[in-house]
Amino acid sequence: MPEIPTEQWAQVIEKTGGPVDYKKIPVQKPGPDEVLVNIKFSGVCHTDLHAVNGDWPLATKLPLVGGHEGAGEVVAVGDLVTDVKVGDLAGVKWLNGSCLACEFCQTSDEPLCPKPLLSGYTVDGTFQQYCIAKAAHVARIPKGTDLAAIAPVLCAGITVYKGLKESGVKPGQWVAIVGAGGGLGSLACQYARAMGLRTIAIDSGDEKKKMTTELGAEAFVDFATSKNVVADVQAATPDGLGPHAVILVAVNEKPFQQAAEYVRPRGTVICIGLPAGAYLKAPVFESVIKMIRIQGSYVGNRKDSAEAIEFFTRGLIKAPFKVVGLSELQMVYDKMHKGEIVGRYVLDTSK
Ligand code: NAD
Ligand code: ZN
Ligand code: ZN
Repeated sequence: MPEIPTEQWAQVIEKTGGPVDYKKIPVQKPGPDEVLVNIKFSGVCHTDLHAVNGDWPLATKLPLVGGHEGAGEVVAVGDLVTDVKVGDLAGVKWLNGSCLACEFCQTSDEPLCPKPLLSGYTVDGTFQQYCIAKAAHVARIPKGTDLAAIAPVLCAGITVYKGLKESGVKPGQWVAIVGAGGGLGSLACQYARAMGLRTIAIDSGDEKKKMTTELGAEAFVDFATSKNVVADVQAATPDGLGPHAVILVAVNEKPFQQAAEYVRPRGTVICIGLPAGAYLKAPVFESVIKMIRIQGSYVGNRKDSAEAIEFFTRGLIKAPFKVVGLSELQMVYDKMHKGEIVGRYVLDTSK
């Protein structure tokens, strides 16, 4: 049995607005249906920054340990847990737990459960060395997996894979990924390629252009320098009719108001990014005569998670990430706030 310390390092938000405080806190014990995961690596998602800033219409717990892309090893299990064992590798996701009894849980739509436990938001998350999660919901990670590399899959990967599936886009068709240079976007480029899709990346700057091209995008539209984003996106498809689907993972409202204009007739706009206070807008005339669909997509269920992980473990998903110590979280937030992160940052909880 691994030795479990009574204290551990964690990043704690004492009050909304931050800053995060790197300090020692007690290690909790898992309840009967829970597991304790020794988090080795955790990705930093823009959702964690929304949690610090308190810019969503949903309150966080306080004090709060953020984080929901945690990969590690199970070190303790509750009495009722039979299918996860000490020593297994596991991932702590955004959906830490759900009731398993409501209509949505019964129909595999557990992210829609009205009583969810959200890692790093309503329960303490993965920016600590030992994290609790419901056994029913932890992601199963095969032995031998690179835990730093898989961490971003646990939110970003699952979420964009689900969004691509929800869009109904088929192999050979075009998808525009808006915010393609960020964490979710970089993984979306890889999942799109693995799923046989053709990608137009939309983001800003040469570094993000280079990365998205290497990840499989065939065209890049720079939203900051383009004189006409709508025309440029449509022109990137050979017949000029625009992409069959749009995956919105940007952290600004404007692209949410543009997508309906450049999506192809019969196309689908999938909204995933959650910019603070933003509204969707689409012209009724074009929406009707183009018969477009606009839909939200929210993380993924347990099966989506297992599928997204399988794409990764098969070697199909390789997106760039930078590893820094858990103690450096504030630096990551500062860069994220400025839109300077290309790909994902992953925290090593031992530093
Ligand atoms: P990130 O900061 O890594 O990436 C965001 C990217 O959007 C950046 O590269 C930025 O340059 C780009 N961007 C900003 N304005 C743009 C514009 N006008 N056009 C195109 N690109 C633009 O963030 P992330 O971690 O990838 O998260 C993205 C968003 O997705 C966040 O709002 C996050 O909360 C949300 N999210 C939603 C779900 C869900 O289930 N729906 C899951 C995870 C994250
Ligand atoms: Zn996330
Ligand atoms: Zn439920």
